[in-house]
Amino acid sequence: MPLPYQDSSLPVRERVEDLLGRMTLPEKVGQMLQLDARQDIGEIVLEKLAGSILHTSPAKLVEAAELVSRTRLRIPLITAEDCIHGHAFWPGATVFPTQLAMAASWDSTLVERVARATAVEAAATGVHWTFSPVLCIARDLRWGRVDETFGEDPYLISELGAAMIRGYQGDGLTDPTAILATAKHFAGYSETQGGRDASEADISRRKLRSWFLPPFERAAAEGCRVFMLGYQSMDGVPITANKWLLNDVLKEEWGFTGTLVTDWDNVGRMVWEQKVCADYAEAAAVAVKAGNDLIMTTPAFFEGAQEAIRRGILGEDDIDAAVRRILRLKFELGLFENPRTPDAARQAEVIGNPAHVALNLEIARRSLVLLRNDGVLPLAAAPSKRIALLGPNADDVSTQLGDWAGDSGQVDWLPDGHPRELTTTVLDGLRELLPDGWQLDFDPAVEIEKLVPDPEGETFPDGQPRPPISVGVPADPARIAAAAATAAAADYAIVVVGDTVNLNGEHKSTATLELQGGQIALLDAVATTGTPMIVVLIDGKPHALPESALGAAAIVQAFNPGMRGGQAIAELLLGLIEPTGRMPISAARHAGQQPVFYNQTRGQHGSRYADLTQDPLFAFGEGLSYTTITYDGLSIEEPDVAADGVVRATVRLSNTGTRPALETVQVYVSDLVTSVTWASRELKAYRQVTVPAGESVTVAVEVAAADITLVDADGKRVVEAGDFELLVGPNSRPSALLAAKFRIS
Ligand code: BGC
Repeated sequence: MPLPYQDSSLPVRERVEDLLGRMTLPEKVGQMLQLDARQDIGEIVLEKLAGSILHTSPAKLVEAAELVSRTRLRIPLITAEDCIHGHAFWPGATVFPTQLAMAASWDSTLVERVARATAVEAAATGVHWTFSPVLCIARDLRWGRVDETFGEDPYLISELGAAMIRGYQGDGLTDPTAILATAKHFAGYSETQGGRDASEADISRRKLRSWFLPPFERAAAEGCRVFMLGYQSMDGVPITANKWLLNDVLKEEWGFTGTLVTDWDNVGRMVWEQKVCADYAEAAAVAVKAGNDLIMTTPAFFEGAQEAIRRGILGEDDIDAAVRRILRLKFELGLFENPRTPDAARQAEVIGNPAHVALNLEIARRSLVLLRNDGVLPLAAAPSKRIALLGPNADDVSTQLGDWAGDSGQVDWLPDGHPRELTTTVLDGLRELLPDGWQLDFDPAVEIEKLVPDPEGETFPDGQPRPPISVGVPADPARIAAAAATAAAADYAIVVVGDTVNLNGEHKSTATLELQGGQIALLDAVATTGTPMIVVLIDGKPHALPESALGAAAIVQAFNPGMRGGQAIAELLLGLIEPTGRMPISAARHAGQQPVFYNQTRGQHGSRYADLTQDPLFAFGEGLSYTTITYDGLSIEEPDVAADGVVRATVRLSNTGTRPALETVQVYVSDLVTSVTWASRELKAYRQVTVPAGESVTVAVEVAAADITLVDADGKRVVEAGDFELLVGPNSRPSALLAAKFRIS
């Protein structure tokens, strides 16, 4: 006779209450723990009674399920992983472009399909939950986690984030291919000082509501089941203790009923780093009372929470509330009936299958942004050409895959990364696709870095490994001369530069935005040869480029483009595909321009630095095609719009060239007079339209008046009646946008 909680015919509520009623305090506290499965898995499951694990190797995923069967109540484990651009820590799984790269596609349907494929692969391996998407707004490019974001714009982030959540969670949690999505890092984590990761974020509640919260509010509305906190403190309050954000805003205002997970050892950090709690009992009490459910990788929470109850600073009913939410999630996933353990047959069918590889190529193609082109691209078809392929990132698998993949450092079971043959680098792609008779001379010519141990020691105070330090390797003059000679002898020089995974990620913010090691010397040397130079950037963030690169015949931006990236880049250079990507983030001319995002608040003395323009190097939304699209005839249907009405307009796009284009028509709104200072313009809509060569198309765009809001001085989001401008064009630069006035009454 099954116990009531084991009876799947009973409502979830009843099952939760029955199970909760049977649990001892240690079992309840253990249920709140999410522990690092790279540690002793037996201890985690049998002694700490953990409810969840993360970073679980393929072998341990199998072992963990067996261990659960030895526990008293056999509560299934929920397993989580950072499958943030594919199930990228699973040997041979499909590694898609990073979020920043995917964002350059501006294509939510495609991004949703990527998330779906990721979920299908992850679910087959016994992973129930991904820590994705990242909904942080990237404004300071020095921050180490820019590559994990969808860029700088709240609307684009909301669209793509919602799409990813739909993709992961599929047809609902009972769908065996669904995995839980996580909106992270809630909220304001990216607004660090000086780009320093996880530092105090100087951010007001009004500023949060204005730009940083909307993508999260959208995620909550989309049914995202988990929210993960950031690391930062705001106004003196560590995020883990921020009752206003976690309870008042997320749960009460937005009606979020899902589960909250802290970030890595957030509870411990309140003790040993932020020093706002004297010990783990205090920290446990603060965290639980603020509404946190799962406590990531703070094993001492187990004793701390029990001690807090003994001391009377935490009630068992506070623990019960969190445990209820965790159990509910497990019941809703159906884990008691089907613990969704690894399924080898299913893995053979879905991991890296041809459909996923094809999808990966599709998104890699769409992630590439052509930033400059004097006409050199696509490379001319001719019977014989000689190509010099130079630079350290032309054949570098790990930079191409980006952070949080293979051997990027977070897990220990893939020391050599993914099987080499699964990734096509630019070198591989060109070798495969160059027309017969073309010659390819390859020379990496320079190195970016060497890694040296951090002089502060091998581990942080919490025992986590400190990443080694990346030190630039100066160019070797002899190798530079040889590379220049190779370039001089060629018809075209393709120089693939950028950064490495050691210059991106947690603890890896950069002070500068310059290309490191010998890369600038290489670009300078190739530029002097007179051979047309095509610069390809493979990196985790936009870089400030030297004059030699800016003078190149063409520049292609490829944020870590994943396993198929090199093929996509080769296709683009050879004109086998059209360039369609648009910048999801502005690029700076110099690190001192930080932040350089487009939707800045109006008002400052002048508009430039004494020694430099404030104009970005490349603006949000920028990107070229292999043809020219002109915009004209912007016309608003009815310029007087009611507050519940819709602004409808049309604009004509003409393709004056000989190749088709997929144009991203961007729609910004400028509120001409506002009760508070506000952004000069904000993206409100966009449409992707194919414009055949030589043809014109009329494109209809619309924006609901209810979406044309600002956050007033009292922190309320409102539509303020008055005059507005609809700005439509190919990117966010004022000079690129057509304007038409309308009124909201
Ligand atoms: C990161 C999270 C990540 C978690 C688990 C943290 O350090 O900030 O984004 O999901 O680790 O790996």
